[in-house]
Amino acid sequence: MSTLAHTDIQYLSGVGPQRAEVLRKELNISTLNDLLYYFPYKHIDRSRLYYIHEIDGNMPYIQLRGKILSYETAGGGRKERTIAHFTDGTGIIDLVWFQYGKFIQKRYPLNKEFIVFGKPTVFGGRINIAHPDIDPADGLDISGMGLRPYYNTTERMKRMNLSSGGMEKLMRNLFGMLTEPIPETLPEYFVEEHHLMPLDEALRCMHFPENPEQLRRAEYRLKFEELFYIQLDILRYARMRQQKSQGLCFTVVGHLFNTFYNEKLPFPLTNAQKRVIREMRADMNSGRQMNRLLQGDVGSGKTLVALMVMLIAIDNGYQACIMAPTEILAEQHYATIRTLLEGLPVRVELLTGSVKGRRRAPILSGLQDGSVHLLIATHAVLEDTVSFAALGLVVVDEQHRFGVAQRAKLWSKNDFLPHVLVMTATPIPRTLAMTLYGDLDVSVIDELPPGRKPVFTEHRYDTQKASLYQFMCSQIDAGRQVYVVYPLIKESEKMDLKNLEDGYRTICEVFPDYAVSMVHGRLKPAEKEAEMQRFVSGETKIMVATTVIEVGVNVPNASIMVIQNAERFGLSQLHQLRGRVGRGADQSYCILVTSFKLTDDSRKRIDIMTRTTDGFEIAEADLRLRGPGDLEGTQQSGIAFDLHIANLARDGILLQHVRDIALRLLDDDPDESRPENRILWQQLRERRRTNVNWSAIS
Ligand code: ADP
Ligand code: MG
Repeated sequence: MSTLAHTDIQYLSGVGPQRAEVLRKELNISTLNDLLYYFPYKHIDRSRLYYIHEIDGNMPYIQLRGKILSYETAGGGRKERTIAHFTDGTGIIDLVWFQYGKFIQKRYPLNKEFIVFGKPTVFGGRINIAHPDIDPADGLDISGMGLRPYYNTTERMKRMNLSSGGMEKLMRNLFGMLTEPIPETLPEYFVEEHHLMPLDEALRCMHFPENPEQLRRAEYRLKFEELFYIQLDILRYARMRQQKSQGLCFTVVGHLFNTFYNEKLPFPLTNAQKRVIREMRADMNSGRQMNRLLQGDVGSGKTLVALMVMLIAIDNGYQACIMAPTEILAEQHYATIRTLLEGLPVRVELLTGSVKGRRRAPILSGLQDGSVHLLIATHAVLEDTVSFAALGLVVVDEQHRFGVAQRAKLWSKNDFLPHVLVMTATPIPRTLAMTLYGDLDVSVIDELPPGRKPVFTEHRYDTQKASLYQFMCSQIDAGRQVYVVYPLIKESEKMDLKNLEDGYRTICEVFPDYAVSMVHGRLKPAEKEAEMQRFVSGETKIMVATTVIEVGVNVPNASIMVIQNAERFGLSQLHQLRGRVGRGADQSYCILVTSFKLTDDSRKRIDIMTRTTDGFEIAEADLRLRGPGDLEGTQQSGIAFDLHIANLARDGILLQHVRDIALRLLDDDPDESRPENRILWQQLRERRRTNVNWSAIS
């Protein structure tokens, strides 16, 4: 491997300094090894011939054998096209070129046999193939062509004759040059045990497989390896941390927890809530630090779970803190928790940026002397002036709004590591959670409290405003409140703000009898708070806003969520927004308003939203539509998903499989000393040097 990894690409025959430069700039390929790992994006079976009467406009690439009957030139000027009428005796199809007309006619004369290859499409009611590959039929042995690789290339590469075909030639040169097998990157026993294709064979088959089955096995081997090393890295790190971090033992479930459970619970817990509380109780009494991610769809009752777990910490003589991403949310938690704990000897305090001066001092000293048991806070808690007597548990609500560094800062406020519970309503597909939060244990509340009516979701075009307003009016008359949400993104901020303000004015005109709030990110925090508060208290009936209301806000009386330009929102955002309604006993509605022009993807998103309210189903769909690199949560956590060949959306089962294998391996070889595994640890070190640090997330 090392010689390949160190041999400059320019020394490969067919490359040279100029092409080497282009390969480096365009594809980041600078060594032979880089080239080896530049895989084709697809293979096409060129051993099969189709008949024209078989084909339609929906087929992948196909191959035909026949003759050109005549040429025709259509359009004019820059739109000129050359069309060849091509037949194989079973029908006629058009071959189309948008350039090089004269050259084409000379190169492909009439009535000579050709093999034509390309993707059929329908245009103007006729089937045609644009810019096909054409070879003279005589002397061409199709059966030997097998699966041909197709490589992504760029315009600059094409100008250097490095189109897909050019890349294919380079690959053949490369393999021709290799006299020895490419060294294995997994232990031999391992390759055998897991029925993997050896690396040398796998790399060859990735480029030049003889059949689809070979290609599948080659891909499997490489995906396996890629995911395996990532999991091995994460799990190894997690073990090290567990060994290092002595956790606090919360041995008792005491007076507070029991009194609350028996006397204060406003409603029976759902089974899912009970289960996750049990999981966390076990964690906090295991002698190790708890590091748990609690996932639960919006409205699944995470706050109550957090509160009960915090009571266990207090029962054991420690303080607990719950951190919320916004002041509004912190205040809501404060109000909820105060009410729930009424009559219990727990001192609850709220610490946000607006708690200042005379109000702040006693809270800070109470935290220091331990008389404050439960703190509800925003980022304000991270300031250096804040310190605790004995912080035993930290709950982070809506975690993706907190950066890794910020969380680390909170942990460091103690001599010992507090238990950590991270809560999120952004459902993260299991496969992604395992990679993202590899060293976090995951608990899931997969059940909503009884009696919730699913939010009724409907798609409307923006030409149907009148009936929408009518509907809003009838709901407000019945005592409900309405959200109207507009998109706002940096790139089009001015336009977006204008839309929002126009929308606000229209709403005020249409509903002169009701007070209307408007909230957006440009407002000062205090103004924003005040407007939110007016809506929370019911003074205003309609809230016109950007996505600032996305996280956590709880106004049970709000029963309609209107999302303007819904096509511009991502799935998880739409789901979060919808989660703002449907919190009370009334039937709630979510109305997705779009223009007529919808891309395929936005139509799919709208369809999914109107079909299901299941957050996990939506998250899985999101992962499929967008790919993992784009998912909310992954961007904010700053991890690049530069998986080379595996795909988290599709390879979930394999990921689970390799995770189990990695766990077993760590059990079998805990001090990394077995000679047969030496290559594993060596590879791990090498990969860590070149890859992102997967494991620095917690
Ligand atoms: P989220 O998980 O989105 O943070 P919350 O904790 O805000 O959800 O809970 C949503 C609503 O459900 C709250 O009004 C809460 O009082 C209520 N709730 C929580 N648990 C239950 C339960 N077991 N039965 C009925 N209602 C519940
Ligand atoms: Mg919540």
